[in-house]
Amino acid sequence: MSNLRNVLHLRPIRSMNYARFLTAVSAARKPSPIRILTELQQRSPPSLISLAGGAPNPNTFPFQSASIKVKGGEALVMDEPLMKRALQYSGSYGIPELLSWMKDLQKSLHNPPTAGYSSERGQMEMCVTTGSQEGLCKIFEMLVNSGDNVLLDAPTYSGTLAALQPLGCNLINVASDQHGMIPADLRKILERWDPADAQKPGSSVPRVLYTIPNGGNPTGASMTCERKQEVYELARKYDFLIIEDDPYYFLQFQKVSSSDLSLYSQRPWAPTFLSMDVDSRVLRTDSFSKILSSGLRIGFITGPKPLVERVVLHIQASTMHTSTFTQLMVSQLLHNWGPGGFLKNKLIYILDGFLSFSPVCFVDVAEWHPPMAGMFLWIKLKGIKDTQQLIMERALEKEVLLVPGGVFNINSSDPCPYVRAAFSLSTPQQIDEAFRRLADLIKDAM
Ligand code: PMP
Repeated sequence: MSNLRNVLHLRPIRSMNYARFLTAVSAARKPSPIRILTELQQRSPPSLISLAGGAPNPNTFPFQSASIKVKGGEALVMDEPLMKRALQYSGSYGIPELLSWMKDLQKSLHNPPTAGYSSERGQMEMCVTTGSQEGLCKIFEMLVNSGDNVLLDAPTYSGTLAALQPLGCNLINVASDQHGMIPADLRKILERWDPADAQKPGSSVPRVLYTIPNGGNPTGASMTCERKQEVYELARKYDFLIIEDDPYYFLQFQKVSSSDLSLYSQRPWAPTFLSMDVDSRVLRTDSFSKILSSGLRIGFITGPKPLVERVVLHIQASTMHTSTFTQLMVSQLLHNWGPGGFLKNKLIYILDGFLSFSPVCFVDVAEWHPPMAGMFLWIKLKGIKDTQQLIMERALEKEVLLVPGGVFNINSSDPCPYVRAAFSLSTPQQIDEAFRRLADLIKDAM
């Protein structure tokens, strides 16, 4: 992984002008003087006496300490001093111990272009977000103006559409299949523009491409390394940024025996856009929602420092920071596990997920591609033009709940013969039964 750039013969050719990517709102954001003090305080020795900031006194709070049992491992103990910290405001980038742990992990998994997080070509940076949804919203606010052309491969995550569409941008749909975005279609779309115009003020050349590279939501599709490479080369040619939204990265299925846990050290995960980035043009969003807890709301942005810094200004002005309590809880868990323990733990999850995944064949009435990652099956119902009414009205009567595919399209009212089925929560027996009910329903409708 670490020498992927060499393998692909990618060399830095361009120095990035990040200012041209920022919206007026983002460019106008100023650092909060109070938040800067909080960051400073977070990194200072306990002997520092702070009369700054507007932090309340945690001695007046009702909570004292906490002990959280961890399955098969050491308990997490929040003694009184730690609890006081957990209940207090913290810096907008995230708490230092969680950030440094994550920077080490990102470095080992993706070797970001300026790994070590500082180099002549500009530094890489990370920040914690309240789930990757917050990260995506803030990235779009930072980069997308009304009227901008934005590239993505729909059907796509409805939360992304919800964040992008109100910004008044023009969403350009790049065709995709079970291997993700199709580079040939992207190239054809981009041929409308002259790459030489990309840098010109007011140019309509797209400046942002969004994609979900693994276990796409809703399609379950995972992009091949070759396709990523082609997309990346187009990003360089037309000078656009790639938003790599990868919450299903750790849910990539491996066809290996669950007894062969030594495999975790071989990094079985697909090479990422971040790992092939040489220009610092990839902003990657990660999430702990699918692997540690969705309720804790912990996500991360990794990318070029000038852009992550801007996102942090958006955070300063809105949520201020992700819950200190949940960050400390996760950080303790990760430090107890260590990076090897984390990866091993996640591989077990992947194997379990793969082994319990057994979709029932209902080939007469539907078509689908088995996903290699994520939580979703994207199913085309034969002989059905649009699944909206079938699912929202009739499926409920049969007591089976799915999502009609239209909600993942740019124009949600376009007829869509697909449904999204999540296989993460149900037992194989429940999945079998749900598909039986769905098959009956389709046969009735046909
Ligand atoms: N991106 C994608 C593709 C998703 O599927 C989701 C959650 N369903 C998110 C982002 C947001 O996840 P979270 O905020 O919980 O990290």
